[in-house]
Amino acid sequence: MPGDPSVNFNLLHRICKLVVLLCFLHIFVTVVFYVRSLDFRVAFAQNQQSKHNAVKPAQVRNTEDTPGVDPVIEKLKAPEEPKAPEEPAKKLEKCPETSPLLVGPLRVEFNIPMSLDLIKKENPNLQQGGRFKPKDCEALQKVAIIIPFRNRDEHLKYWLYYLHPILQRQQLDYGVYVINQDGEETFNRAKLLNVGYTEALKEYDYNCFIFSDVDLIPMDDRNTYKCFSQPRHLSVSMDKFGFRLPYNQYFGGVSSLSKEQYLKINGFPNNYWGWGGEDDDIYNRVTSRGMSISRPSGEVGKCRMIRHNRDQKNEPNPQRFNRIAHTRETMHKDGINSLSYRVVSVEKLDLFTKITVDVGKP
Ligand code: BGC
Repeated sequence: MPGDPSVNFNLLHRICKLVVLLCFLHIFVTVVFYVRSLDFRVAFAQNQQSKHNAVKPAQVRNTEDTPGVDPVIEKLKAPEEPKAPEEPAKKLEKCPETSPLLVGPLRVEFNIPMSLDLIKKENPNLQQGGRFKPKDCEALQKVAIIIPFRNRDEHLKYWLYYLHPILQRQQLDYGVYVINQDGEETFNRAKLLNVGYTEALKEYDYNCFIFSDVDLIPMDDRNTYKCFSQPRHLSVSMDKFGFRLPYNQYFGGVSSLSKEQYLKINGFPNNYWGWGGEDDDIYNRVTSRGMSISRPSGEVGKCRMIRHNRDQKNEPNPQRFNRIAHTRETMHKDGINSLSYRVVSVEKLDLFTKITVDVGKP
C-alpha cells in the first residue's frame, strides 16, 4: 500500500542488495582482468628470456647453475654483456718508416736527481722486464737492447730515464737486457754482448740487436735504435771525442746488427778481457765478411757520455793489438759458436731485465 512504511523499507532493502551485488560483480570483473593481465606479463617475460637464451647459451648456463638466482633479475644486474661471437683481432697497420712522434735534438744532463720510481711513473706503458710495443701500429723491427754491465747503477738510471721515452717515440717493439757480469774477475764486454744476444732470443723472436754502453745517451731521437741493411754505428759524434769520430774505423759505444748480420760474423769475440780492442775486432769481422758500416749524420748521431773514473778490473788489455791483427784467422772459431757461460739469475724488473752471468776468467 502506498505510504506504508514496511513497503518502503522492503524496496530500500532490495535496492541495497542490488547495489552490494553490483559491487561484488565489479570487484570480480576487476580481479579477473587483473589476473589475466598478470598472466600476459609473465608470458611476455618468459618469451623475452627464451629469445635471449637462444643467442647467449653461455650466460644462461651460468645463471641457471647458480642456486637461488633468478635469471631475469640476474640478467638485469649483470654488469657486462658477454662479447658477441669472437671477431678475429684486427691486424694493425705497419708503423711508418719514420716515426711521426720524433722531436729531434734533445737536452741531456746528468746533474738532475734520478730515481727508478720517477722513471717508472714517466713510462706507464712499459711491460715487466722493460718491454714495449706500440699500441697503434705494428713495429717494423723487434729490437733487443743489450747493455754490458757491472756496478754502474747510477749510470743505468740515466740511461733508462732518457732512452725509454726515446725508444717509445721511435715506435719500436723492444726489450732492455742488462747483462751483469758476476764476481770480481776482469770485465769482458764483448762476451757479455754475446750472452745478451743468446738470452734475449730465448725470450722473444728479436730480429735486431742494439749493443750499447751504459753511459752513452743519444742527443737526438732521429738516431733510431734499429737495424739497417748494413751493420750500423750509432754513437758517431760523442762529446768525449769533441763530437767527431776518433778514427774512421771506430765502432765502439753503440752499434746495431740484425740477427742475420750478427750470425754472418759469428757474433763477437769472447777472449778480450779488460778494456779496449773488442770493438775494433767486431769492425774487422764486419768488413772481412764484405759488409760496410752505416752511420747517421754527425748532427743526428750526437751523444753524451757520463764522465766516470776507470772501473776496477777493467784495465786496458795489453793483448788487444795482437788480437786485432788476427781477427780474420780467429773469428771462425771464437764467437757465438764457442760461447760458454753460466746464468746466475734472471730478474724481470719494471724497467729492464737483469741477467747476472758468470763468464769465467781470462
Ligand atoms: C780501443 C777501442 C776504443 C777506442 C776509443 C781504441 O784504441 O781499441 O776499444 O773504443 O780506442 O777509445
